[in-house]
Amino acid sequence: MNHTMNISLSINLEQDDKRYLWHPFTQQQDWEAEPQLIIERAEGSYLIDIDGNRYLDGVSSLWVNVHGHCRPEINQAINAQLQRVAHSTFLGLTHPPGIHLARRLIEIAPGQLQRVFYSDTGAAAVEIALKMAFQYWRQCPDPCPQKTRFFSLRNDYHGDTVGAMSVGGIDLFFQIYHPLFFPTLTAGYDLVEIERVIATHADELAAVVMEPLVQGAAGILVYPPGFTRAVWEIAQRHNVLFIVDEVATGFGRTGTMFACEHEDIAPDLMALGKGISGGYLPLAATLATEEIYRAFLGNVDQFRTFYHGHTYTGNPVVCAAALASLDLFERDHTLEHLADKIVQLRQGLQRFWELPLVGDIRQCGFMVGIELLQDRAHKTPFPLHMRVAAQVIRAARQRGVIIRPLADTLVLMPPLAISSDELAYLLDAVYAAIQAVAEVLP
Ligand SMILES: *Cc1c(COP(=O)(O)O)cnc(C)c1O
Repeated sequence: MNHTMNISLSINLEQDDKRYLWHPFTQQQDWEAEPQLIIERAEGSYLIDIDGNRYLDGVSSLWVNVHGHCRPEINQAINAQLQRVAHSTFLGLTHPPGIHLARRLIEIAPGQLQRVFYSDTGAAAVEIALKMAFQYWRQCPDPCPQKTRFFSLRNDYHGDTVGAMSVGGIDLFFQIYHPLFFPTLTAGYDLVEIERVIATHADELAAVVMEPLVQGAAGILVYPPGFTRAVWEIAQRHNVLFIVDEVATGFGRTGTMFACEHEDIAPDLMALGKGISGGYLPLAATLATEEIYRAFLGNVDQFRTFYHGHTYTGNPVVCAAALASLDLFERDHTLEHLADKIVQLRQGLQRFWELPLVGDIRQCGFMVGIELLQDRAHKTPFPLHMRVAAQVIRAARQRGVIIRPLADTLVLMPPLAISSDELAYLLDAVYAAIQAVAEVLP
């Protein structure tokens, strides 16, 4: 293809995107007004656009990529499964990749988790955990059918379906939908307040839902050590189930396979998504203890079945990708190598405090939030219309780096397999981008 054809092709594509598509979490008025990148290929830590430009994937394609893009081992596993069968239902039938993966997940899962229920997005994995907890209290050996409500912390994020939003606490995303939600109990970050709310409502609480160690979508808000464990202990003390949402933190993101390991907690239910397939295909899972599972056993006329499923639940190609990803964790010693890169990231972020725009820097393992503030001392945010983070994202893109903000917090969340040199480049480019925007601000 000659150069002119290539340019006209990319212009046509961009026009068609703006004419036919509606992107997630996107103000389409801005999207339509601005030039957009079209990604055609990827390799390792790089995304490659339709014109052949390479960009470091600084957010792991929205927090999912683990071992790098286009790893032959994962691609081959997907291809091999495609030669057998692309999809066969998990309702009334089963298949080898689904079985093997469940066994592997249970082998690495924290605490007492013994059963795997598949779905395809993190939000669904959370909804499933909520429904399991609700139904458990009606069917357990010592039933408490009045336990129907949920507790979650302010600023939590669990996905965008109505149930997941009901236990979410980010006003910017959820306020408009509020009339649709079931009422949820909530509290701030004060353990005394949390225990008071949970204790007061213990009779009606089915479960506590929590993002362990760090609230991701809220802007990488990191809890003090011991906080997650303290909330888990409160739930235990008051006979309330504990649902841990490891959709973002699972599969190595915080330095251990699961965030629960840092605080040695044993959840009753766990939601997994994002990195579970190495970031290749949509897969999610809800893990449950045997005690919860057993509450759903009975004769058909007892109606104890878990009435939930999605058409593509447990798709075998997706399971094959996830199995290949788990193999790579072992073969590449992913977590062992990650430890040094987490330190490199911590040290490399120190100099960002010198930058005038930087108001706060938060890190949990390989999750980083750099919050831009107009005034650090008074914690004054920039006016929304200035779109300061969007300007930094653009400046980073000019330096060959893709990142994405949460409000005015820049998120750095590279693939776990990023090389040390690439990580250094990511830090340099983001530093320079913030500096460049600071120089042109009024
Ligand atoms: C991303 C995320 C979800 C939702 O996952 P989707 O696959 O986008 O539905 C749920 N919980 C947490 C903590 C997340 O970060």
